[in-house]
Amino acid sequence: MAAPLPVIIVGAGMAAYGVAREFRKLDKTTPLTIVSSDQAGSYSKPMLSNAMAMGKNAAQLMMQSADQMAVTLDATILGGVAVTVVDAAARTIGTSDGRTLAYRDLVLALGATPIRLPIDGDAAGEVLSVNHLDDYAGLRARLDALGRPARVVILGAGLIGCEFADDLVAGGHQVSLVDPNPRPLAALAAPGLSAALVDAWAQLPITLNMNTTATAVQRAQNGLRVSLADGGVVEADIVLSAVGLRPSIALAQSAGLATRRGIVVDEFGRTSAANIYALGDCAEYSTANGGVVMPYIAPLLLAARAIGATLAGTTTPIVLRNDAVVVKTASLKLALAPPPAGSKGDWAHVDDGERIIARFVDHDGIVRGFGLSLHTPALRTALMAELDKAHQQAVPG
Ligand SMILES: Cc1cc2nc3c(=O)[nH]c(=O)nc-3n(C[C@H](O)[C@H](O)[C@H](O)COP(=O)(O)OP(=O)(O)OC[C@H]3O[C@@H](n4cnc5c(N)ncnc54)[C@H](O)[C@@H]3O)c2cc1C
Repeated sequence: MAAPLPVIIVGAGMAAYGVAREFRKLDKTTPLTIVSSDQAGSYSKPMLSNAMAMGKNAAQLMMQSADQMAVTLDATILGGVAVTVVDAAARTIGTSDGRTLAYRDLVLALGATPIRLPIDGDAAGEVLSVNHLDDYAGLRARLDALGRPARVVILGAGLIGCEFADDLVAGGHQVSLVDPNPRPLAALAAPGLSAALVDAWAQLPITLNMNTTATAVQRAQNGLRVSLADGGVVEADIVLSAVGLRPSIALAQSAGLATRRGIVVDEFGRTSAANIYALGDCAEYSTANGGVVMPYIAPLLLAARAIGATLAGTTTPIVLRNDAVVVKTASLKLALAPPPAGSKGDWAHVDDGERIIARFVDHDGIVRGFGLSLHTPALRTALMAELDKAHQQAVPG
């Protein structure tokens, strides 16, 4: 009898290993193969932006090597191997090392790619992005090589930019944040919470360059010179870009799978091709409000649990929940549940002297989002419940 075909998972991030774990809990016998273009070690990506405050270097963030994961999951793991083609009709994948592998089911957990700003200058190629442990190891090596506190320019004062700013300062470095918005966390947080974060940073070596962008990065005598659109110039040792990520959809597109911003999946995580699933940063989930890309851990864990169960024989829908994003800025703890994009309304702030609670109220008086400082799990849950209740009232039946 021919050996059963494996479930193949492409990627070795938290989405890939999340599905692999959930699947193996329920199915101990079907062969499982994981193919990843990185070395396939397991690490917690959110720790990349608070590792210094946690006293960890890049090597210490690695939780298990690919070999250890292969034993834990009873899986074949091909690290350093990219999947270059998916033949959905033949149910095979082709790899960068020349193999053709047949699958029973295929899971795409391809992640996302950092967006690069168009920047001029002879050092534009030195702008770093950190979306992987290897990138982070590179950043730490650059910082260590300086042997003194570094001047770091961060492009983008969103979630990741602010977390890195806080963490680099915790590591003894100086940071200049550059962002076209008038305040940090502009897309996510109420104005009062952005202001509270700026206050918390007042005594720290964090300089804000708001309402502008970087136009060029040039080599200078003592490092790099970053030119800004408003005519300003910032001297730096390292320039880190944190301007956002784009779901990795090229492989799916070339296989003829439906894609929009991400790889389109239905409520079960199924793509438009039979026996191919997707989740994590590369996926666009289907919700009552249309397709959404949710590049966070909570949704990928929910998707992993559902897809793992479906692959093990129990067809299970992905039930996504609204959740607040916890911002890991040690200077000021924030939890944010921004209103859906395009919501029309206003932020209302309550400052009780200890913490700020902000609610986004739309023109019909319905709460669409919130944010709070110095949050606790109980407060977050209470505000989430408020949001859910308002949502149910807004959608009768
Ligand atoms: C600095 C930072 C801090 C964050 N903090 C938080 C936080 O506090 N809370 C939170 O909820 N979220 C946070 N996030 C987001 C969260 O970490 C991501 O949503 C999540 O880790 C994405 O996991 P993934 O497995 O989908 O993608 P990735 O981790 O990007 O994994 C993609 C995998 O696919 C592989 N791959 C890609 N293409 C191919 C190919 N063609 N062939 C083979 N392999 C391929 C890659 O090598 C990689 O292993 C943070 C993100 C960053 C960058």
